[in-house]
Amino acid sequence: MKVLVINSGSSSIKFQLLDMRGEQVLASGVVERIGEDLGKISCWMHPGSSAQSRVEKVEKIADHQSGMLKVGEVLCGGQDGVVRSSEEIGAVGHRVVHGGEAFHQPTVIDEEVVAAIQANIPLAPLHNPANLDGIRVARELFPSTPQVAVFDTAFHQTIPQRAHIYALPYELYERHRVRRYGFHGTSHKFVAGECARLMGRELSTTNLITIHLGNGCSMSAVEGGCSIDTSLGMTPLEGLVMGTRSGDVDPALHSFLERAAGMNLALIDGMLNNESGLKGICGFNDMRDIHEAAGKGDERARLALEVQTYRNKKYIGAYMAVLGRVDALVFTAGIGENDPIVRERSLAGLEHLGIELDVDKNNRRYKEPGALHSGSSRVQIWVIPTNEELAIARESMSVLEETNH
Ligand code: ADP
Repeated sequence: MKVLVINSGSSSIKFQLLDMRGEQVLASGVVERIGEDLGKISCWMHPGSSAQSRVEKVEKIADHQSGMLKVGEVLCGGQDGVVRSSEEIGAVGHRVVHGGEAFHQPTVIDEEVVAAIQANIPLAPLHNPANLDGIRVARELFPSTPQVAVFDTAFHQTIPQRAHIYALPYELYERHRVRRYGFHGTSHKFVAGECARLMGRELSTTNLITIHLGNGCSMSAVEGGCSIDTSLGMTPLEGLVMGTRSGDVDPALHSFLERAAGMNLALIDGMLNNESGLKGICGFNDMRDIHEAAGKGDERARLALEVQTYRNKKYIGAYMAVLGRVDALVFTAGIGENDPIVRERSLAGLEHLGIELDVDKNNRRYKEPGALHSGSSRVQIWVIPTNEELAIARESMSVLEETNH
């Protein structure tokens, strides 16, 4: 079966078409700058193979409807197309950011599911409407193809109350569903499964700390394959230091800044999401730029690195305590997969907890999963490249099989 994976954002649609026999990527691309004067669609056909080719078009893409039409054209188009017609696509899997408490697993999309995603808009006002646009248009374009929603929050629905209830008046939870939801769930679940497989263990008896460090960063305590705590909260702002997001701050910050700096809530919200994190401390949000600047003696860049890796270490310690026995730590996403310095600093001094990095292994480049622990480390340490598209395609397939579609 061929599965089309859609990640629809406010001004972009990322897509990937996979042939699930052999889990091969047939095409992978993005429609960007939807609604602007000039948009762009770019796509690799048969990426990584000898038949690889690239399609790139710059033109106005008015809305998600025309964006999805372009995706259809590129995939089915002429001699370069990877399918003859859209009928060959057996399922469409959609990334949906916020499933609230309604969704514990991937779900076949119908009107009720659309309404439930809509009901969660207040919890993800930027993401869920864009995800819904993608779903609406894909359902129009592929009316007879089953469509599946795969939620970023679903994997974390196993987090117990003690870890998901904030110490606030309880009616805020009852009335407004204020609680920790967590995000990046598809990635945490994927690397947890892969790690147990690579360790030759049953996931159900394996305890892991999964560390997703990309532009957005989060860490999860995974017990027997179930998330039991995670660092992102009600929104994707809490926890670790991210590219432009602050992670944990004192909740009294808002009222202080209102009084001291005359800032209103919208300004503070924008600042915490877009002007903070690594960028807030040193002006760069890309870790490669930070290393370059730090190498030239930029003290702020060094500080940003120190603040981020210290926070990582603090959360690792917390999740060691939460899990009791930890079999492995897993690093993933842009920084986690590629940055030996961040990994080394985040784990420095944790030898007393049984975490010992092999410096040579840590310094190698990893395109495939690799083990980084020393021979005497009690806790294994892995780099496992995340693959959210493959995870969404797999989950879409399995939910369709379960529901006999
Ligand atoms: P997103 O959260 O947007 O999916 P990614 O997982 O692709 O992000 O991670 C993007 C981040 O990864 C970049 O901002 C950069 O900081 C970091 N990154 C990518 N490549 C490298 C590298 N070779 N060394 C260090 N950091 C890297």
